[in-house]
Amino acid sequence: SDSVVIIGAGHAAGQAVASLRQEGFEGTIVVIGEESVVPYQRPPLSKKFLAGEIGIDRVLFKPVDFYAKAEAEMILDTKVETVDTAAKKVVLEGGRTLDYGKLIFTTGGRVRKLACPGAELPGVNYLRTIADVEAIRAHFKPGAKLVIVGGGYIGLEVAAVAVKHDIDVTVLEMAPTVLGRVTCREVAEFFQRVHREEGVKILTDTALAGIEGTDHVTGVKTGTGDIIPADFVIAGIGILPNVELAQEAGITCNNGIVVDELCRTSDENVYAAGDCTFHPNPIYDVELRLESVHNALEQAKTAAAHICGKDKPYGQVPWFWSDQYDLKLQIAGLSQGYDDVVIRGDITGRSFAAFYMKDGRMIAVDAVNRAPEFMMSKMMLQKGQSAPAEKLADESIEMKDMLA
Ligand code: FAD
Repeated sequence: SDSVVIIGAGHAAGQAVASLRQEGFEGTIVVIGEESVVPYQRPPLSKKFLAGEIGIDRVLFKPVDFYAKAEAEMILDTKVETVDTAAKKVVLEGGRTLDYGKLIFTTGGRVRKLACPGAELPGVNYLRTIADVEAIRAHFKPGAKLVIVGGGYIGLEVAAVAVKHDIDVTVLEMAPTVLGRVTCREVAEFFQRVHREEGVKILTDTALAGIEGTDHVTGVKTGTGDIIPADFVIAGIGILPNVELAQEAGITCNNGIVVDELCRTSDENVYAAGDCTFHPNPIYDVELRLESVHNALEQAKTAAAHICGKDKPYGQVPWFWSDQYDLKLQIAGLSQGYDDVVIRGDITGRSFAAFYMKDGRMIAVDAVNRAPEFMMSKMMLQKGQSAPAEKLADESIEMKDMLA
């Protein structure tokens, strides 16, 4: 049939609706989402929305009436339970069945849960949805003690917001530094310094042994047996891609739903976009799974275009951002495999860029309050250009003149 069914109503789904119509798709569009809200942006959930600085209206991806105008049926609060690729049908919770011509998986990811003793106690929170933020906000009282498990971007963003709400914040990190999996030591140490200056306690090389409490969290036990008092806990230890539905339908998965550069899966009528995909990146010649808004939007555009008969291969430099205090961190590229780091600016202040080099070429950048460095590097990476380390480090040379 001339219909597109989209499973999951997140960022990628919202963009897929918009792009299908922009590309001229005239058939029916149905989006099924298990959350009760139309597609929204998750980044503010650990930033301005958590801080109470913006409301839901500014978190939504598109206004509520966008979907009616786009003639897309939104079935919310409903889980898709099975997909039958031979019959081209999906079965929803409650038994309703929908036929599809093309199917798009935009099922995203779900939080990885703690597995230690006490993990199920009330007061243990995660952060992925608006509902999660509401649960966390209920604990936001001045003087309350918060232990954040995991010093990744989300954990650190939450720490920054919470400490500004006069919450006593401790971050527990197993590795020798926070952000260990994603940044170099210099940048990790920069963030540790700033957080400590702002009043956040950071415990690195510290394992989590268990959550203490009888009917509610009272503390967190570390690997060495110390107990850190806590009124609530937020764990930010990563996500698991929602691949089970696709996997059960016989679609090839491998740390994500496997797609090609046109977002096609192993089934010719099925596409996937966003956090749930394992996809090729031609610039870095790798296959990977990304958790970023840019990736979700671009893959959704690519899938929609292909459904409308157009090839718009997705092959861009990955990019991401994180806001903590007055720091705007912007990241472009993939730093894996770097052999040198070049710092531009004063890393002991609050504005600098760290360029990741490999065999003398720039492969990625972390820019803190340095929009020009971020923009120019992203463009250079996209074009396969680089500049020598001495030049990148030299602030007397403007970024726009790097290639001159
Ligand atoms: P999701 O947003 O995960 O949406 C998938 C939806 O599908 C979910 O609502 C899920 O419930 C639903 N679903 C799954 N299975 C089913 C089913 N069987 N039936 C029905 N519905 C289903 N990215 C950045 O680039 N910059 C940032 O600063 C940034 N900050 C972030 C902060 C937080 C707190 C979080 C959680 C994420 C952040 N991200 C950030 C990541 C970004 O939000 C994700 O990359 C993006 O949301 C991915 O969109 P998606 O549509 O692929 O998946």
